Amino acid sequence: MKDIIAFKFGNQLIDTQSATDEISKNGEAIFFDNSPEALEVIRHSAAHLMAQAIKELYPDAKFFVGPVVEEGFYYDFKTSTKIGEEDLKAIEKKMAQLAKKGYSIEKYTISKDEAVSKFSGDELKQLVLSNIPSDEVSIYRQGEFEDLCRGPHLPNTKYLKFVKLTKIAGAYLGGDENSEMLTRIYGVAFATKEALKEHLHMLEEAEKRDHRKIGNQMGLFFFDDKVGAGLPIWLPAGGRLRAKLESYLFKAHRKRGYQPVRGPELLKSDLWKLSGHYQNYGENIYFTSIDEQEYGIKPMNCLGHIKIFQHSLHSYRDLPLKFFEYGVVHRHEKSGVLHGLFRVREFTQDDAHIFCREDQIKSEVIEVLNFVDTIMKIFDFEYSLEISTRPEKYIGSDEIWETATQSLKEALLENGIQFDIDEGGGAFYGPKIDIKIRDSIGRKWQCGTIQVDFNLPERFDITYIDEENKRVRPVMIHRAILGSFERFIGILTEHYAGEFPFFLAPTQIVIIPIKEGHQPYAQELAKKLVDMEVDVEIYDQNESLNKRIRTAEKSRVPMIVVLGDREVENRTIALRDRRERTKSNITEKEFLELIKEKLDEVEF
Ligand SMILES: [Zn+2]
Ligand SMILES: [Zn+2]
Repeated sequence: MKDIIAFKFGNQLIDTQSATDEISKNGEAIFFDNSPEALEVIRHSAAHLMAQAIKELYPDAKFFVGPVVEEGFYYDFKTSTKIGEEDLKAIEKKMAQLAKKGYSIEKYTISKDEAVSKFSGDELKQLVLSNIPSDEVSIYRQGEFEDLCRGPHLPNTKYLKFVKLTKIAGAYLGGDENSEMLTRIYGVAFATKEALKEHLHMLEEAEKRDHRKIGNQMGLFFFDDKVGAGLPIWLPAGGRLRAKLESYLFKAHRKRGYQPVRGPELLKSDLWKLSGHYQNYGENIYFTSIDEQEYGIKPMNCLGHIKIFQHSLHSYRDLPLKFFEYGVVHRHEKSGVLHGLFRVREFTQDDAHIFCREDQIKSEVIEVLNFVDTIMKIFDFEYSLEISTRPEKYIGSDEIWETATQSLKEALLENGIQFDIDEGGGAFYGPKIDIKIRDSIGRKWQCGTIQVDFNLPERFDITYIDEENKRVRPVMIHRAILGSFERFIGILTEHYAGEFPFFLAPTQIVIIPIKEGHQPYAQELAKKLVDMEVDVEIYDQNESLNKRIRTAEKSRVPMIVVLGDREVENRTIALRDRRERTKSNITEKEFLELIKEKLDEVEF
């Protein structure tokens, strides 16, 4: 029997130190294993263990916050000595020693005033304390080490055997670039050796696939400090890849009854106030002024689409109306969180808004989910769904939220679709279904989302005319499938390690004429391929055949065609399919048919 390390009671994870008799009797026991709940407790305690080790090695260390994050944990702190990558081993070693000592992890509660004087010499803890609203705070103690914390924690340090520190970085205090820079060490922790090993292998793979590195090698995109952080610049190869994705997806939308529309980049702040974005999302919006009027640069496309709906009269027979736009949006992200294409300040969403009747919500949600399913299968992504409920900051009444959340749940339940619940993770105007995809190395990404919204239609007083000639409020479904082209292409790049499938590859075919005399055939063939909308390049540099083949392979071009005397004479093609890892000799006709087939088999 595995040890119990915590309890789940309602939606709360409560450690053994905090559990009352009632909770330990009636709560769900969380055992010491690799379940998400157990990992949360384990990683929380691993962060403390790391802090304890740092404190022993660097006695003047002061700690800020040490949360659990998706893939592990980190702690932000400062020391007078500079700590670098090379010091991680020593910290890890110290952690192992401390874990082995088997300190029991104890909890006690003190008043906030007591805590303020207890940590009087520590300005970082004072800052943490000033952000805690309650009058009482809890302290966790293991050996000599004490830390201010809400928990949950393991009962003993002996459980922390499979911990690895993965990264050291600078982090601005509170994520604010005008504040001082702290040191942040990231780590991972598991219940078993195998799980740790598997995870480390995944990290290694992820590093090899880093889209910033591959993007640079393949000439897809870059960033330039002189232009600004978080503002990607697309190079021709990246532009070709992106254009293909956009074009397939565009047709896919048209086929499903979506109308292409386009709203402006700037809208008056008054409109953002009416929608609630100003009050609830304002810190992410960039503002500017024109003729002394304040405007907000759109962080979302909803308002433009609402205006389009309002522009004409609609009857119940017109619904659902589906407006879609490759909407360029800007959002203020703190510079510390910017990360390649994954977190940027300007991006393009594959955004759509479905205006429908209440009785159409379920079928529309299911239709969107089918659309999602088609797209994710094309890219070999597994995915799962999560319903996010009302967040702390929200607009609209409780009843509206209840109805909207219920309709999402019912749509999934009635169709036998499994889902998880993320309490409090909804958008400020409505609950949502998030689509979490799993890439080829097992990482999860949140991409698409479907949100049911009764609030914005209310705020903008939009209506349609029903059977009895009455004005009725429609429901608005906000949805994106890829999320953003930037982020999705970043994910695809890592998912495929840059070896994009044929239909998407920036350069799909490279033709290599061995000698000068083989040039005309190469040109002729290239022309035919261009007519089929295939991106083709001729490698006729004055270099050896092998060198040119190597260059094409290094550029991850899916197909390489070599033309020599024999090929010219017989109108054949020596083909290397890089993805399938095959070589073959086929006629020109067979080759062109093969290419056509490859393009046709992609059905968005
Ligand atoms: Zn803690
Ligand atoms: Zn929207």
